[in-house]
Amino acid sequence: MTGSIEVVYRGIFQKHLGQRITRGIVLAARKEGKIGISFGRYGDSPERNGIPAKSFAVVADTAEELEAHLARYEPINNDVTVSVDDTLCKGVESWAWYGLQPINKLTRPGGTVLVTSIQTPEELLKDCHRKGAEWTLGIVKGMASFSGLWVFKEDHTDVRVLGAIAKVAPHVVKLESVEAAIRDEWKDELKVASARKSYDRVAVRKVGPDEGNPEKPYEFQLLKWQEMKEGLVIPAIPVKQEVPGWDGGYRPGRNPTFKKFSTRTMRPVVNFDTCTKCTLCWLQCPDSCFDITPTGHYDANMEACCGCGVCEAVCPVENCVTMVNEQAFEGNGSQFADYEKDKPAYLAWLDEKIKDKVTTQRSHGFRYRGQYEEELAQSGTEGGQKGGD
Ligand code: SF4
Ligand code: SF4
Repeated sequence: MTGSIEVVYRGIFQKHLGQRITRGIVLAARKEGKIGISFGRYGDSPERNGIPAKSFAVVADTAEELEAHLARYEPINNDVTVSVDDTLCKGVESWAWYGLQPINKLTRPGGTVLVTSIQTPEELLKDCHRKGAEWTLGIVKGMASFSGLWVFKEDHTDVRVLGAIAKVAPHVVKLESVEAAIRDEWKDELKVASARKSYDRVAVRKVGPDEGNPEKPYEFQLLKWQEMKEGLVIPAIPVKQEVPGWDGGYRPGRNPTFKKFSTRTMRPVVNFDTCTKCTLCWLQCPDSCFDITPTGHYDANMEACCGCGVCEAVCPVENCVTMVNEQAFEGNGSQFADYEKDKPAYLAWLDEKIKDKVTTQRSHGFRYRGQYEEELAQSGTEGGQKGGD
């Protein structure tokens, strides 16, 4: 018998977290005499900040079963899909496949999607796409744990997820083996206790085939071989796009198929009333996201924004650009269009979104070595996940 688990994580910010979870699963399975492998997907490497990536763990009773399971490109019928950032419930768009992949797409019917989140199941189900089969939504209560490339944030998210996996998929790993593996690997009784607590507290909810977000995920068709041109031809991206109804303004050409709807964990919101049109956000945005409107304002286009936060950092006007948790938004429409339609309503919306950041604060992680230790020293704790217990 085999079991497989995929961990969907934000590239770089959660790289170590994803790897520690899948490694922990294999180590725990070894305690039961099983054999297993933990691996990342080649197509997701090199990783980019925030771009969704995956790590897998496959365990089996025998080497032959494991080999048979791995004789395909990737596990597609996973017992558990772990999403260590709840914004990924909106869908997963990576470098390794095409279009938007629903978070539950590679979860087997009857399997579990385990999400670290402080949201309710009902809130998360507004984002998770309908599967057409029954599945289970499990929530490990806590905020997304982000760290930088060089840092692992020791807030026990790794072992809390392992404890929850033991609860929802005991045929893959049992709690006793998870505990034994944590003792061997991390030699930390506090982490063992966190795993056990999470096992006891993980909240699960059965989801029907027709429950969830009814939208059709964004997709596009690759060229068929008959349609390809001779030799290697890569069409260039045009310098400018025409925007119907615009008299003036400028929208740069963009990749027509790679949309970054799900690559960000935060998005910028702009106060067009206080914007001085200084151009800095436009100049510094690494993804050329800003459309210059006919009025000379700078409108961050959500098809292109990866949520890096550079525009917020460079904007010289206080509170003119604010990064807000992506979970606070439903659509991807133009903020400037809403502002032009009804300015007071837009400003009220803006205010509400910025306030939302207070309750669902998140960050991209740490910018330099030692920053996490400084944060811990300031808070007077040695670790522990906010919202976790
Ligand atoms: S967060 Fe700002 S700077 Fe970063 S990609 Fe989005 S619009 Fe550009
Ligand atoms: S950096 Fe700020 S003030 Fe300058 S154009 Fe962009 S939003 Fe406006």
